Amino acid sequence: MDGHSLVETLDPAETTQERTPRAARQVQVDPPLGMLAELTHRCPLQCPYCSNPLKLLKAADELDTETWLSVFSQAADLGILQVHLSGGEPTLRQDLEQFVERLASRGVYTNLITAGVNLTQERLRNLVSRGLDHLQLSLQAIDPVISDKIGNYKNSLAKKLDVARWVREAGLPLTINAPTHRHNIGQAPALIELALELGADRLEIAHVQYYGWAANNKAALMPDYERVLVEAAFVAEAKTRLKGILNIDYVTPDHYAQFPKPCMGGWAKDVLNITPEGKVLPCHAAESLGMRFDTVKDRPLAGIWYEGEAFNRFRGFDWMKEPCRSCPRKEIDFGGCRCQAFALTGDAAATDPACSLSPNHHLMEEITGSYTSAEPPPFVYRRIGRA
Ligand code: SF4
Ligand code: SF4
Repeated sequence: MDGHSLVETLDPAETTQERTPRAARQVQVDPPLGMLAELTHRCPLQCPYCSNPLKLLKAADELDTETWLSVFSQAADLGILQVHLSGGEPTLRQDLEQFVERLASRGVYTNLITAGVNLTQERLRNLVSRGLDHLQLSLQAIDPVISDKIGNYKNSLAKKLDVARWVREAGLPLTINAPTHRHNIGQAPALIELALELGADRLEIAHVQYYGWAANNKAALMPDYERVLVEAAFVAEAKTRLKGILNIDYVTPDHYAQFPKPCMGGWAKDVLNITPEGKVLPCHAAESLGMRFDTVKDRPLAGIWYEGEAFNRFRGFDWMKEPCRSCPRKEIDFGGCRCQAFALTGDAAATDPACSLSPNHHLMEEITGSYTSAEPPPFVYRRIGRA
């Protein structure tokens, strides 16, 4: 599938999408490349930075097996190349094997994003035999005590290291994802050593983004600026040194940036996200915007991607206000994150306050200044029914 073909070239007989007249489309929309399928919000861990929404869904709210299978077939029809099976903890879905099998049979690359603590070697082998292509393992910390404290789960590190070894034994590529914050910011050197020892292909050292539960735990999680600088310098050197051996992705904290990140590569540009109850979002945090989102129960996936009101709300550049509208960087960062803009300014179309050109940039500085100077409070752990 050509990732850059236009919607007009799609044959409706090959998809389940609805179609509207060409004249109604103003922005070129390409097929999505990737999809994040949040199969469940259930999880044995309770990380205080979890990006799931505060109002977590229960098992009874989740899409059933047949609906997910239909969604995955529609995703393949739509031209999606890669599906990330995530959560919560996706291995809590007993139909996970069926999902992997359906996607593999349609030639879609599958990545399982897991905390690993309830995965057995037998189940992993079974998933691989059904066509699983890749596994991404989250690591709370390389210190066992801190690891258990962050996830509020006993013996978590040892279980995760077992999973990492099984993944490599099964011949699957492995990514280690290490969310970074005040409680583990010094671990980058040891983390890189561990990733090399485990034979990981990729290591993501990603500073926590302050949405969802992390927004509730800002004061507990925000790192000091000086420590971020030391870490960033170390990781930059390691990236160069280990080129071709270990692929290291480093996601810096927005609060210390000069310009924002190109959030999701641009609103509704390359990827979509499906919640456990079937809402289709342009990014995993978009529910925080208070907009109405279509669900896969109401409408075919292709219709939502191409014609959905929420998906078209921030496509292109016409929605932008100054200073983004006339800024040469708008095609690089798309004005930053809509969720962060809304959370801090109340206006989802505002320039992301992470940008030094934003009239609201002082809000980011005020936040970091007030949080990092104080003794961190206890975590507010992620729990269903807590928010
Ligand atoms: S961030 Fe932690 S609590 Fe949230 S889904 Fe991942 S492992 Fe579970
Ligand atoms: S003003 Fe807008 S487009 Fe320009 S750098 Fe800042 S966020 Fe990006």
